[in-house]
Amino acid sequence: MNENLQIRTFKKTGHIEVICGSMFSGKTEELIRRIRRAQIAKQRVKVFKPKLDNRYSEFEIVSHNDTSFPSEIIEDATEILDKCFDAEVIGIDEAQFFDDNLVEICQNLADAGKRVIVAGLDQDYRAKPFEPMPKLLAVAEYITKTLAVCVICGAPANRTHRITDEQEQVLVGASNHYEARCRLHHNFKEENNK
Ligand code: ADP
Ligand code: MG
Repeated sequence: MNENLQIRTFKKTGHIEVICGSMFSGKTEELIRRIRRAQIAKQRVKVFKPKLDNRYSEFEIVSHNDTSFPSEIIEDATEILDKCFDAEVIGIDEAQFFDDNLVEICQNLADAGKRVIVAGLDQDYRAKPFEPMPKLLAVAEYITKTLAVCVICGAPANRTHRITDEQEQVLVGASNHYEARCRLHHNFKEENNK
């Protein structure tokens, strides 16, 4: 064959997409939207969530707006490698509840040609970076930051305010424990009017 006519073939390139933001900002909705579109295009999809997130369902990721998609619960990110050998698109929700090894796992999957979509809280309720999200943001090809609506003033809300007194970083809950707040009204207490 004429060498000039030879076409170089490359392995399919994978990548990492991160969807981050506060609680109620639409991360899970956006993850479900992307996964559904991939599935419509007949791509093999697989979705995972951490064992900790048992808020609405054991077998689905569920948004606060009541959209859902079947998912598998895993305890450690290493389980993803064994379970998605033939998946082309991999979704991971509530990524902030996994260990730092999630970063290496996502890198391995993307290196193997897969599209990896990771959704998670970028800040905890004290507005501190929530590991391993910052590390994922550093290595991702695409980043989407979603915003909620501040329940005090209606401004774009980038933070998650805990309305109960517990102090631990991880306290799984929804509107019973948390509200979306803007920068100004994070930790604002109406009774103090400050
Ligand atoms: P996340 O995964 O980021 O916590 P979800 O995708 O589960 O968010 O839920 C987003 C939905 O939450 C919105 O479409 C809306 O129906 C609902 N919601 C509740 N409180 C708020 C708020 N303060 N701002 C925006 N959306 C809210
Ligand atoms: Mg969510």
